Amino acid sequence: MSCDTEKYMSLIDKALDRDITELEQKELDIHLENCEACREHYYALKEIISDMKESAPVVAPDHFTEDVMKRLPAVKKKRMPAQWIRRYPVLTAAAVFLILMFGSVMANWSTGNELSVVSGSDNVQIKPSTHTVIVPKGKTVKGDLVVENGDVRVEGKVDGDVVVIKGKKYMASAGQITGDSQEIHQVVEWVWYKLKMFFTGEEQK
Ligand SMILES: [Zn+2]
Repeated sequence: MSCDTEKYMSLIDKALDRDITELEQKELDIHLENCEACREHYYALKEIISDMKESAPVVAPDHFTEDVMKRLPAVKKKRMPAQWIRRYPVLTAAAVFLILMFGSVMANWSTGNELSVVSGSDNVQIKPSTHTVIVPKGKTVKGDLVVENGDVRVEGKVDGDVVVIKGKKYMASAGQITGDSQEIHQVVEWVWYKLKMFFTGEEQK
């Protein structure tokens, strides 16, 4: 009883929606002949639909099959990608976007190794030779300090978050950070951070 259930559920769905191509219909028919589980499911749905049409002999409203499916708890779980794309175009677009974004961020992660202060470059000392950014004693960085490919040494104060990407954070005893601090060593963390920045727009500041 092993068949590609999701695929055939999707075809059944399409057939009942009358949204099926000839080729798909043929494929479905052949499968229904051979697969009892799908056959039963198909006819059960079909019966329900015709019953409902009889009691209300109007044209089936939009999302008719979907509504019927909702009444069937066993079937409800079976959400297929194709249906998803049809029903949730915005979510799908967002997912595609995230995948593309992930790709470009990944590429960036593996190639970039130059020390850079992404945000909060006022009042810091940048030392490319040692890949270090220092917040000097008595100085305050207003806002978040984000450093890529280097270490951060906080001797003064950061009035915000400190994010060190591919580096470490060192605190002097008098150093002070009012927000959160985070070291990012894993590409996954980095991607997550970039996405967060992208959606909150913080990095653009
Ligand atoms: Zn089947």
